[in-house]
Amino acid sequence: MIDAYSEDAPASQALFERASGIVPGGVNSPVRAFKSVGGTPRFMVRGEGPWLFDADGRRYVDLVCSWGPLIHGHAHPAVIDAVQQAAARGTSFGAPTPGEVELAEEIVARTAVEQVRLVNSGTEATMSAIRLARGFTGRTKIIKFAGCYHGHVDALLASAGSGVATLGIPDSPGVTGATASETIVLPYNDLAAVEQALTGESVAAIITEAAAGNMGVVAPLPGFNAGLAELAHRHGALFIMDEVMTGFRVSRSGWQGLEPVDADLWTFGKVMGGGLPAAAFGGRREVMQRLAPAGPVYQAGTLSGNPLACAAGLASLSLADDATYAKLDQTAATIAGLATDALAKEGVPHRLNTAGNMFSIFFTAGEVTNYDQAKQQRVEAFKAFFHSMLSQGVYLPPSAFEAWFVSTAIDDEALSRVAEAVGNAAKAAA
Ligand code: PLP
Repeated sequence: MIDAYSEDAPASQALFERASGIVPGGVNSPVRAFKSVGGTPRFMVRGEGPWLFDADGRRYVDLVCSWGPLIHGHAHPAVIDAVQQAAARGTSFGAPTPGEVELAEEIVARTAVEQVRLVNSGTEATMSAIRLARGFTGRTKIIKFAGCYHGHVDALLASAGSGVATLGIPDSPGVTGATASETIVLPYNDLAAVEQALTGESVAAIITEAAAGNMGVVAPLPGFNAGLAELAHRHGALFIMDEVMTGFRVSRSGWQGLEPVDADLWTFGKVMGGGLPAAAFGGRREVMQRLAPAGPVYQAGTLSGNPLACAAGLASLSLADDATYAKLDQTAATIAGLATDALAKEGVPHRLNTAGNMFSIFFTAGEVTNYDQAKQQRVEAFKAFFHSMLSQGVYLPPSAFEAWFVSTAIDDEALSRVAEAVGNAAKAAA
């Protein structure tokens, strides 16, 4: 386990060794393991505003934000207060609660969904949306795009992004051939490929990330999402917009606030839980009404709509007004500018891709509009950049195939830390 990057993190290293004996790979979600960048994953003990503190007592500017949820930074007092108050009333009732109604109302008010069902994770949301689309259309096949990640649902793991891309796994063992054969994987941003596939097949749904963030950030080309909606509807399929990552992060209503699209179902997660496990899927009333107990398509959850998660989510969304998104946009542009200026100065080939306030820097000179192009980057350069930033107190996603996330908590002190770090990091990547 020990390598050049691990020497200065003895407490994390000790925890990782303990964990690795009893937890596969030492982590509870693969991309946390630093597998593609090497070294010891930092075990975090505390977060405060823009900062994360590791087990060795080191402080980092956090540009992961728990992979997206924490738009207000760590331990925002309003979110913590809401959770503490909810916890004092009891942690779970297995019965309907007012908080679920309020969170559902907030989602419906902010987005185009007419009805919504709360679940615990983005994976559950996409899995359930697909079952519902199949139940509604009476069809089986699904179209997804290479490099898009929709959680670890069997049917959606084919050519997936996120940890699957990080680890370079084409498809996961354990997913049956029968399941895989029901998923048609097409290149992202290629409407002609979709049109062709729909001509030959009877498809239940097209699912896409509203803006791809799991092969690194790759925004939809103008007209791609709208074209998908049109093609799906022309061929009797449903259109599912996965906003687990973009939802309530890129605008108060998510990607649909930047680009309204005629979808039938949407999935949400991350930000709507305020750092606790909450997610949702929702959409047209006619489709949602097919869900049990209103209709025959079954879906359920012991902890769905958990009172603590609803309280954290509601508190977080209540804070998220237009000023929040203006600040997130500005902070993202500042940080992206610092990094790209430094890379340009050192002559390091790179490409900045943005989707609202989500962004990533690909270490390639070529444009990146799909997964094949994303894979052209020099992962070794990213690795050097990442470790230099880490050693200087800036925590980036430990993968070249992930989005960087900002929070409104990033202040001048945190920005100065980033500004000081990028020069050395760019030299390391050169
Ligand atoms: N969909 C998208 C777009 C995601 O980015 C993710 C997670 O990163 C998921 C679905 C799965 O969400 P979860 O990890 O909560 O299961």
